[in-house]
Amino acid sequence: MAILEVVKAGNPVLKQVAKPIKKIDSRLRHLMDDMAETMYKCDGVGLAAPQVGQSIRLVVIDVGEGIIEMINPVITHREGKVTDSEGCLSVPGIFGDVERAERVTVEYTTRFNKRRTLKADGLLARCIQHECDHLEGTLFINIATSLRQESPEDRENG
Ligand code: ZN
Repeated sequence: MAILEVVKAGNPVLKQVAKPIKKIDSRLRHLMDDMAETMYKCDGVGLAAPQVGQSIRLVVIDVGEGIIEMINPVITHREGKVTDSEGCLSVPGIFGDVERAERVTVEYTTRFNKRRTLKADGLLARCIQHECDHLEGTLFINIATSLRQESPEDRENG
């Protein structure tokens, strides 16, 4: 496995709409492994493929409950509203308040080519929405209601 370079805001790949993944092969699984390793190394709770320069619909998430890898994720249901602090490995040192759905349902494909449905709330729901935004070329700084320099209570997101 390898640590990948996380691209920063200003890189055009972060503004692109990522392409659907058609084939799950060893190359893709290798990328998923490398993305997970990179996320852990950077103390992030999520990482989307565009953040490592790959404009494809793939995210990895771990909010402390184990790794979740999502190929072609689609948020099919959003419920409630909650505003909380977010950060992003592609926007180091900046945090902001972002309004998100409180609960989401997401459908995605696993590395074993199985379609799954996951219902999430709390940090996991926030993280899923943040990472799926990356696949649409949206950064949290584009939708945050306030932005600030990092303070001790902030945490890196994805
Ligand atoms: Zn991010």
